[in-house]
Amino acid sequence: MKKILITGATGFVGQNLCRQFASNKEYELYCVVRNTEKAKNVLPKNLRLVDAVKLDLVSSLGIDYVVHLASCLTSRDDTESMRSILDVNIRFSTELLDVLKDCKCLKFINLGSFAEYKSNPGIPEPAYLYTAAKQAFRPILDYYAANGEWSYVHLIPYTIYGGENNQKKLIDYVRESLDAPVPVKMSPGYQVSDFIHINDVIGCIRFLIDNPQKWNGQKGEVYHLGTGRGTSIRELARIFEQATKKKTNIEWGGLPYRKRDIMHAVAPISKLKDLGWQAKIKLENGIVDTLVVGAGISGLGALHTLYRKPIVAKGLEKSDTYGGLCSSFSVNGFRFDRFIHLSFSNIDEVNVLFSEVEGGINRHSPNPSNLYKGRWIKHPSQNNLYVLDDEEKKTIIDDFKKRPDASTVKVKNYEEWLRVQFGDYFAEHFPMVYTRKYWMKEAKDLRTEWVGNRIYQPSIEEVIAGSKSEDTRITYYAKEMRYPKTGGYQHFLSKLAEESNIAYKAEVQHIDTIKREVTTIDGEVYPYRRLISSLPLPEIVKMLDDVPEEVMTAVSKLETTSGYHVSIALKTKNIPPYLWWYIYDEDNIASRVYSPSMKSEGNAPEGCSSLQMEVYCKENEYNEQELLDRTVGKLVNQGIIKQDDILFTHIGFEKYANVIFPEPIYYARKTVRDYLSSVGIDTIGRFGEWDYLWSDQSLVSGLNIKQTC
Ligand SMILES: Cc1cc2nc3c(=O)[nH]c(=O)nc-3n(C[C@H](O)[C@H](O)[C@H](O)COP(=O)(O)OP(=O)(O)OC[C@H]3O[C@@H](n4cnc5c(N)ncnc54)[C@H](O)[C@@H]3O)c2cc1C
Repeated sequence: MKKILITGATGFVGQNLCRQFASNKEYELYCVVRNTEKAKNVLPKNLRLVDAVKLDLVSSLGIDYVVHLASCLTSRDDTESMRSILDVNIRFSTELLDVLKDCKCLKFINLGSFAEYKSNPGIPEPAYLYTAAKQAFRPILDYYAANGEWSYVHLIPYTIYGGENNQKKLIDYVRESLDAPVPVKMSPGYQVSDFIHINDVIGCIRFLIDNPQKWNGQKGEVYHLGTGRGTSIRELARIFEQATKKKTNIEWGGLPYRKRDIMHAVAPISKLKDLGWQAKIKLENGIVDTLVVGAGISGLGALHTLYRKPIVAKGLEKSDTYGGLCSSFSVNGFRFDRFIHLSFSNIDEVNVLFSEVEGGINRHSPNPSNLYKGRWIKHPSQNNLYVLDDEEKKTIIDDFKKRPDASTVKVKNYEEWLRVQFGDYFAEHFPMVYTRKYWMKEAKDLRTEWVGNRIYQPSIEEVIAGSKSEDTRITYYAKEMRYPKTGGYQHFLSKLAEESNIAYKAEVQHIDTIKREVTTIDGEVYPYRRLISSLPLPEIVKMLDDVPEEVMTAVSKLETTSGYHVSIALKTKNIPPYLWWYIYDEDNIASRVYSPSMKSEGNAPEGCSSLQMEVYCKENEYNEQELLDRTVGKLVNQGIIKQDDILFTHIGFEKYANVIFPEPIYYARKTVRDYLSSVGIDTIGRFGEWDYLWSDQSLVSGLNIKQTC
């Protein structure tokens, strides 16, 4: 255990440092504070506070490390400021050394300022009185260190930004100027600074504490702590503009430079590099306030809401395009979606956004069908039994009549619900079979809350009428299916994606909820103030450290189906006339088939057509040939398509398709989501809410993120 004494703990660097250090089990933290009440409010609870007026208590603590952050930081030099500067930067700092003087082998990290080097980082030249006082403290530290055989370094941070900060900094004024109605007055803006993120500053101090062997024995070495990259204020404004796709409104030169402004302050970083440390956070990443992980439809919804806020939001997406499950892909001139994807939304906000799609919308009236024992049955089968043999019709209708009265039965699972709705024979031969194919579960193992209006529940009169005539009304729960004329389903989202700042091929690998930092697979680091995730709950939990066992148990209860889409390109238009159809027969392992070329003619070249089949199974449960034989091969065998017409087939796999509703789902997802929320992660979308959401509901889940930042 390392005993670390921190001064200036309630300041900007101190508060952020204490928050990050407090969870480190290797550190025992002592903070010298002037106002213990204030400190209790702003610092983590598990720190030990030492009142500055009882500083002598420190001498008996056996301190190993000191991080001396306390400082009076002001550009002023009036008499009152002069007194405060001397009081903190000289008197208090020296008293601290005095109480530590009996500590042997102490390691002392003294935080300076780049304003100690007004013109040249190699030559001390204080820009302000407070930095003159900081320099005056150095020989005093030399003196005590020599007597105590201490190692000590002066760490010179450059322009620190990010993290929690009550005081407005220049960077905040630039942010506020984005799309501001009134210009923000600034200096001409040519001063060049080295902006270093607070997490990097803390990371460097942590590095020194964790690697004492690298600097043990050093006496007063100076380390300039920056990124080594200079950025003018004008460039900073451009970086904000690129990150937000908004315009800064700044009156450059509206204010004069300050009297002792430093025009060029960029850290020479080679010494820290030689020690083995380097800043990780790029300015472009560091200025982001809110990160949205996943640029599927829900992530795009969140980014759309955030776009309207005076903040910087960024999406991180592992794939090379937006839309997630709602994205589309092209093969040899044919376009396919990732599963069926048609919009039947009745949510106004969604329909307004979708109506802006360039090129217009195809509107289909739903005409699904069902394939059962090689026969086409109009949808839904339960009230369209016309094509079945008389004997089977009779059995279904008899059982339908015998079914228990729904109002008297307390249904415990989906199987019971199906039997109550449709009678035993129909339940067993239609939906229970389909449940095995679609949900990869027995109906008795599913709850019923997800059903909603998805399954039509006809009266006995409708069932009988449908057994006698094909002429039944359309009872599908949506009246219109919408699809972009061009660009596939993904094209509904083009405008949302264009307005957003999204890093593609940015696969998030690790999330540090203490540092509030996300790391992608290529090593890029993104700090955040707020994190919104649309990733599947089991995936995001894997990215966190120290997840409680109770949460891991809950995660293990969350189940989804995985699925293959088997796409078929055909050189003729000779396919069944249905936009989509369900397959009840179990020898064909696909549960649904649909036609991308019927959704939009633009999805296939002139004179051609396409189909896509949906197969739910575990990854690698079938090899490619088996998968094709038991899907496409079956359609060919049944004469539904011709082998000679097939130009090519394509197989795609989706690990997360539909959320399954077994018994523990409600408790399990609440436990996981509550935990994520407690560590500062908001979860959205189909797999973040862990619900059976259609694309419009997923979009709304993102649009409705809490609008505070
Ligand atoms: C078979 C099927 C058919 C459907 N049909 C319809 C339909 O006809 N109509 C309809 O409205 N809805 C339909 N849906 C529902 C619709 O697809 C979903 O509601 C919606 O796509 C979910 O969007 P999302 O943003 O919540 O999740 P996703 O689309 O899964 O988005 C998550 C995003 O996170 C990204 N990601 C994952 N891991 C990482 C990582 N580590 N780092 C960075 N990024 C990562 C992914 O690449 C993805 O882009 C269907 C769904 C399925 C499965």
